[in-house]
Amino acid sequence: MRHSTHLLVYPFPSSGHIIPLLDLTDLLLRRGLTVTVVISPTNLPLLDPLHSSHPSSLHKLLFDDPEITPFPDPLIAKVISTQKLFDPIVKWFRSHPSPPMAIVSDFFLGWTSELASHLGIQRIVFSPSGVLSSSILQTLWQDVEEINADKDQKFSLSFPEIPNSPEFPLWQLLPVSQNFKKGEPHYESFRNGMLANMSSWGIIYNTFEELEGVYIDHMKKQMGHDRVWAVGPLLPDDHGTGRGGSSVVPPNDLLMWLDNKPDDSVVYICFGSQTTLSEKQMGGLIGALELSNINFILCAKGSKSGSIPSGFEDWVSGRGLIVKGWAPQLAILRHRAVGSFVSHCGWNSTLEGVAAGVMMLTWPMGADQYVDAKLLVDELGVGKRVCEDAPDSVPDSVELARLLDESVSGRYKAEQRVVKVKKLSQAASKAVKDGTSMRDVDTFVQLLSQ
Ligand code: UDP
Repeated sequence: MRHSTHLLVYPFPSSGHIIPLLDLTDLLLRRGLTVTVVISPTNLPLLDPLHSSHPSSLHKLLFDDPEITPFPDPLIAKVISTQKLFDPIVKWFRSHPSPPMAIVSDFFLGWTSELASHLGIQRIVFSPSGVLSSSILQTLWQDVEEINADKDQKFSLSFPEIPNSPEFPLWQLLPVSQNFKKGEPHYESFRNGMLANMSSWGIIYNTFEELEGVYIDHMKKQMGHDRVWAVGPLLPDDHGTGRGGSSVVPPNDLLMWLDNKPDDSVVYICFGSQTTLSEKQMGGLIGALELSNINFILCAKGSKSGSIPSGFEDWVSGRGLIVKGWAPQLAILRHRAVGSFVSHCGWNSTLEGVAAGVMMLTWPMGADQYVDAKLLVDELGVGKRVCEDAPDSVPDSVELARLLDESVSGRYKAEQRVVKVKKLSQAASKAVKDGTSMRDVDTFVQLLSQ
């Protein structure tokens, strides 16, 4: 009997990166592939549910998180430290009776391109970010020699097939504190890893054609071949209540609370798994929630205890819920009562909001979030900016209250933005059911199995 195709899947160890790559892994396992996932014991709880569904075809390759290399930039430090797994993976591979024929690894793990060629197998990049944001960063990394201290220097995709390509100042693409040191080995190594992505055998994006078609085509031209697959939005079919973490409140309590609210009347507010608002920012938001009349669920993970005034919850009781920890975001967004989403615009949240057909109120603060917000507001016309002058900007409570009220008002429902997001939501469902994203997953699996 022919052995099934064996893949090594290597997510970057951070929940926003692990969650979508495991959703993709599920699709690959359902198509009969055998998959080994590189994971640390700390992140094992994220893999366990998938492992229970595919006990014989999903294998774990467990390595402790490598000690973090001391470096001023925490992201680069984490990326560099993963390189310590090069030799252990080679050793595992050499001793395996039927080793993987390709590696699918996160775009931060650019060094796995060298690992793959050392092992004589293909590397496929998995991008947990959108195509526009990854392309713009690619441009930045290519031009990085020229970057000076001018944080207002603008970057865009200067390619003829994309007229009026959006422009971004450098401070929106990188942490403002970041100082490039040309020739500094860790920094060069990170940059080389990002550039290596472009010479990989293929790239898989968690996006879909209607969302980023023009940028997907652009990426195919950049890569010089068609092995660029858009397979998103990668989301579970069920409620996804345990996705990425256990909710700190029983999901059913939240869903029952939502059951009692009218359609599209609730604003959901959450800033992802990493970002916490400063006390001033939280103050501006709380002030707006007090002034507004909206129903809302506020996910206030990691907020300093003083930033939500005592008595606030009683004051808004009946119309507002505060979740002080991990919220079952997907289940909340998919509830018919939720009409708009104040989001930091991490790519997963962006996709989840669009797929759920809720109006996006954008409040980006770093990483790829400014690019995602621009895509939502200016390119797709499905969102509105609520705060984005700088990562530490504090919203004006009166203005924010107005925007919140407006986003779920009856009048607003007929707005173009809402009509467009509902249309995109339908396109997202079609793409993953029997449309372009399913086609791309199938094409990818067929190419591997040849
Ligand atoms: N998430 C969640 N509950 C929370 C916070 C986040 O379920 O309380 C999920 C969210 O649904 C998304 C992911 O965690 O899938 C966050 O990813 P995103 O790219 O939006 O932001 P990041 O955390 O990477 O900044």
